[in-house]
Amino acid sequence: MDVAVREVEVAVVGAGQAGLSAGYFLRRSGLAPGAGFVVLDHSPGPGGAWQYRWPSLTYGKAHRVHELPGMPLGYADPDRPSAEVVGDYFARYEREFDLRVRRPVDVAAVREGDGGRLRVETDAGVWSARALINATGTWDRPFLPYYPGQETFLGRQLHTAGYRGAAEFAGRHVVVVGGGTSAVQLLMELADVARTTWVTRRPPVFRSGPFDEEWGREAVASVERRVRQGLPPQSVVSVTGLAATEAVRQAEERGILRREEMFDRITPHGVAWADGRTLETDVILWATGFRAALDHLAPLRLREPGGGIAVEGTRVLKDPRVHLVGYGPSASTIGANRAGRTAVREVRALLDEHRLQAVR
Ligand SMILES: Cc1cc2nc3c(=O)[nH]c(=O)nc-3n(C[C@H](O)[C@H](O)[C@H](O)COP(=O)(O)OP(=O)(O)OC[C@H]3O[C@@H](n4cnc5c(N)ncnc54)[C@H](O)[C@@H]3O)c2cc1C
Repeated sequence: MDVAVREVEVAVVGAGQAGLSAGYFLRRSGLAPGAGFVVLDHSPGPGGAWQYRWPSLTYGKAHRVHELPGMPLGYADPDRPSAEVVGDYFARYEREFDLRVRRPVDVAAVREGDGGRLRVETDAGVWSARALINATGTWDRPFLPYYPGQETFLGRQLHTAGYRGAAEFAGRHVVVVGGGTSAVQLLMELADVARTTWVTRRPPVFRSGPFDEEWGREAVASVERRVRQGLPPQSVVSVTGLAATEAVRQAEERGILRREEMFDRITPHGVAWADGRTLETDVILWATGFRAALDHLAPLRLREPGGGIAVEGTRVLKDPRVHLVGYGPSASTIGANRAGRTAVREVRALLDEHRLQAVR
């Protein structure tokens, strides 16, 4: 075996909400950082994807950030950027539970290793693990659909992942594409300084009822059914609808949320519909979501013909050594917490079974 390979029982990839929750439960189950488990993350600091959220996404504007297991977030100024609030909280959390996250460490590939282990290849060396808890989120894979003429556009195109605030769009015309929460939030911000047009593929559905537990359960169950069948998880909004908050109601009254049908092609100076209508614009802002960042798992060939990875709870059906947390039904702060606990329970059972086999 390669001398540089470090052996651990469990490797956790990603230190966002899901990865830290997994780290917490691994620690509670008696494993220690080092020989027991390692948490690897390629971002520069604590906070998971929250560290990249645009500064105008203040803590007060975030949907609801559930606390990590075992430690309250405490009071946070609603006007402070979520990136800072969550970044500070995660940093405290990592220290409190001594999770020793190794960063920046980029996991390039996970493949079959020796003796039934998984080989985790990174830019900081190789780890060999009996089990893998994958918590890599979606931020690293912004999704941009293709429309004919896209490459001819002379204005600026960007994805929400690259948005830093409305100021730089002052006096411009911005076409915002997408029917999710980010699109709605950005339209409301941009409308104060820019002219906006909103285009979506399907008419957006605003939900006025309470976002209560029953609603949450229904949404999660629906995504769960899909991933169990090996289909790619759909966006949360397609299941839940958009929140009709007071701010949304006011924006509707001001005409900010008037939606146009999706355009059919992009021209050098704007967008065009098949019926001959055209619209000039300076900027196209793609608020078209993200996909699960799972490319590093490709060597394990976990994908199903449906295009997704079939998962029962958090366990990958094709390979019970691998758990996906923060994926599909657990892609929310509360879901990520629970997924961490579920994955650790199952991974511990797998390790115990392995130990029993070794002594027999
Ligand atoms: C704009 C936006 C706003 C949101 N607001 C809310 C909200 O208000 N409430 C809510 O519940 N949910 C919200 N969500 C959903 C949110 O993403 C999840 O709730 C949760 O924060 C995701 O946690 P995670 O641990 O799964 O992923 P992330 O926070 O994305 O963490 C993944 C980590 O994995 C690391 N990583 C990725 N690939 C690799 C690799 N190959 N090697 C090493 N490290 C890697 C990344 O550096 C990152 O730190 C929002 C999502 C977006 C995009």
